[in-house]
Order: sequence, then C-alpha cells, then structure tokens
Amino acid sequence: MGKALIIGCGGVASVAIQKCCQNSDVFEEICIASRTKSKCDALKEKLDGKTATKITTEKVDADNVDELCELISKVKPDLVMNIALPYQDLTIMDACLKCGVNYMDTANYEPEDITEPKWKAVYDKRCEELGFSAYFDYSWQWAYKKKFEEAGLTALLGSGFDPGVTQAYCAYAQKHLFDRIDTIDILDCNGGDHGYPFATNFNPEINLREVSAPGSYWENGKWVEIPAMSIKREYDFAEVGKKDMYLLHHEEIESLAKNIPDVKRIRFFMTFGQSYLTHMNCLENVGMLSTEPIDFEGSKIVPIQFLKALLPDPATLGPRTVGKTNIGCIFTGVKDGKEKTAYIYNVCDHQECYKEVGSQAISYTTGVPAMIGAMMLMTGKWNKPGVYTVEEFDPDPYMEQLNKCGLPWQIDESPALVD
Ligand code: NDP
Repeated sequence: MGKALIIGCGGVASVAIQKCCQNSDVFEEICIASRTKSKCDALKEKLDGKTATKITTEKVDADNVDELCELISKVKPDLVMNIALPYQDLTIMDACLKCGVNYMDTANYEPEDITEPKWKAVYDKRCEELGFSAYFDYSWQWAYKKKFEEAGLTALLGSGFDPGVTQAYCAYAQKHLFDRIDTIDILDCNGGDHGYPFATNFNPEINLREVSAPGSYWENGKWVEIPAMSIKREYDFAEVGKKDMYLLHHEEIESLAKNIPDVKRIRFFMTFGQSYLTHMNCLENVGMLSTEPIDFEGSKIVPIQFLKALLPDPATLGPRTVGKTNIGCIFTGVKDGKEKTAYIYNVCDHQECYKEVGSQAISYTTGVPAMIGAMMLMTGKWNKPGVYTVEEFDPDPYMEQLNKCGLPWQIDESPALVD
C-alpha cells in the first residue's frame, strides 16, 4: 500500500517497526532513520528475510529541519512516523509541512531546554492562565492546525498507549457505551518486575521529567494542581492484583477535556513501587533530576542526561522483566437514562512481548498503537486535514486492530471505582 519513514530506533520504535513488518500489505516499504544509524542497521539485519516489507536505513538529526527535508525528498514516504523524542515534534512537523507529507507521533511536544526564553515566556503564561505546570502541553502542536489544514495534510498526535489507546477507549465509550460521560479515570498499572532497584521503562529523561512534576486533574471546567505524588490510592487490578497508584498530570487529559463534551472530571493514575519512589525522591533531593545545565570540571552537563547514561537502557529490560500491565479507563455516566460504569482495559504480559518482539510490555504497549495509528493514516481510514488527537477519529477501526495486533481489550461493566 505504501511507504513510511520512521524516525527513531529506540525501545518504542523497534516494536513499532517489527509490527509494521508484520503488516507488509500496508507497510510495503519502511525507511528507519535515526541519530545512531548502527541501531537501525542492526534491526534491519534482524528483520531482513523474515518480512515482505522492504527496509532501508538512514542517519538523520531530527532537530534539523533541512536535514529532515533532504531525507524526506530522498525517501518520498506517504507518512512520517515520529518515534524519536518529544523534543523533535516541531522540527519534524515543520519538515512534513515543507515536504507535503502526513505526520504522526506518540507524545506531545516539550522542549529540551526549559530555560529557552521564547518557550519560557509562553510556558509562564500558560501556567498562570490554565493552572498546570508540566513542561509538555498541546498548544505548540495545536498551533499547526491551520497550516496542516491548508496543506491538506493530517497530523495524528499521541498514538501510543497513554496517550493514544486510552483516547480510543474514550471515543469508543462515547460512541457505543454512554449517552453522557461524567468522569474518566485513566489507570496505568505496570505490575512488572525487572529486578533492578531502579530503572525506567521508557526513555529515563522523559519519564523522570513526567513523574517528578506536580500532579493535576481536570474538574468542573478547570485544572486542579497538586504536589507531586500527593494523591495515592490502592486499586485491585485484574490479572495483576493490588497496587498503589498516584495521581499524575498526563497529556491526554488536556485534549479529552476539550473533546468529551460535559465531562466533569478526568484523572490519571500510575502505579509505582516503593523502591522507585524512594530512588526518585533521593535523586530529586540531590539535584540529579534537574534539566538545567551545570558546570562540571570545565564542561556543561545536564544532570538528568548524565543520570540517563548511568541507568539501564529501557530497551535492554525485555529479558528480565516478568509480570503484567493493566492499562485502561474507568468511565461513569449515563446510558438510556440510567447511571452506568465501565472499565475498558488491556492486560499485557512482559514475557509474552519479549517472546514476540524482544521487548518488555511498556515498549510493546506503545509501539503497537504507534503502528496502528500509522496504519489508520496509510489506509486512509483516518485522513482529515489538520492536527488531531486519537479521540477525534472513529475509534472502531483502531479498536479492531488493537484486537488483531496484540493488545486485545476487555470491558468490565461493574468495576470498582476510585474514590
Ligand atoms: P528511546 O530513548 O529508547 O529512543 C529514542 C530514539 O530517538 C533513539 O533511537 C534516539 O537515537 C532517537 N533520537 C533522539 N534524538 C534524536 C534526534 N535529534 N535525531 C534523530 N533521532 C533521535 O525512547 P523510547 O523509545 O522509550 O520513547 C520514544 C517516544 O515514545 C518518546 O517520545 C516517548 O515520550 C514516547 N512514549 C510514549 C508513550 C505513550 O504511551 N504514548 C509511552 C512511552 C514512551 P539514539 O539511539 O542516538 O539515542
């Protein structure tokens, strides 16, 4: 059917690439391009001969729009899949606009340098006006809406699991299960154990920035911000058991608050073990989570980037991670005049993922929906010019592919609710 250019070849991208290769009728050709070309070549070597998809590799610095345009002009893809880091979202969107190609990613924009004055001015204004202080938000990418519309191009934002699948669950609940959704609790439970005292399941820098930030939720038309990790609940997850979970700010709350009419409250909870929290607190207290460069023996280093170099690469956790994830959305609302609840969720087994693609379940649960989002665009099912998040499209073909491609979902119509 067509050709995709995939930017990035880390934990999530390697799963998405392998999944593209399992769907060669859609992904006839892929080009894997990243900063470190040797990783792309190693994956190509692993896959060549086992798939009908033709694979090429390239080196690219995705922070550089001209370099990206040169690559896009050479490869001539139907779609650019950005599975690098959120830092590259805007440069890749710029390049897609310049070259006339559809775009997708798995996480919304955040800047690498949070001291950059132009970004900081917008950030400070947003903190004051909207009331949440995470470094990432949709405003930067939503600002491209008109440009994509005028160019007749589609940009799909945030097609991982959360964001991504969680919004497809919301769109599905709205289309099929409820006349009105009152509350949404997004629960992200990782019951897996990798055996290390401390490691992150995806890019450590992005992950630690996210979880060390103040939490926030949407209630009655506005944001409520709370100190990091200050709201804790215990929940008994199907196939995982009881886990402590903490309220975090999360990007899909921002788009769902716009796109789910009349919703009164949206919260996001993620499970953490005590060892993770103790390490994170200690690292934060000594300044190791700082994103601001410091002088060290004549060079500038960013503490969190130095920490990343010390921590296990999430892509290497696959063989040692056992247990399951359970991620989903609990809805309350009304159907046919009656109050109703539902939990739509997926359970994924770390070792099953490892057997299939050599990765743990966090990369898997993100990489599979990245491929499915791309499939929606490549097959024309989700093409509408502009910039959109997952819940703005028809959920049915996406939900169907989740069942076919390794992330089957279930509905519990009488779940325990979170107080
Ligand atoms: P990794 O750090 O494992 O991989 C990132 C990849 O991007 C690496 O191949 C890296 O190259 C490449 N890269 C980084 N900077 C550049 C650049 N300037 N030019 C070209 N390539 C670059 O990250 P993950 O795979 O863990 O995460 C990928 C994305 O998925 C992130 O945006 C993350 O936020 C998102 N994510 C989304 C989730 C969701 O549910 N929606 C959940 C988890 C992650 P190199 O090899 O040289 O480092």
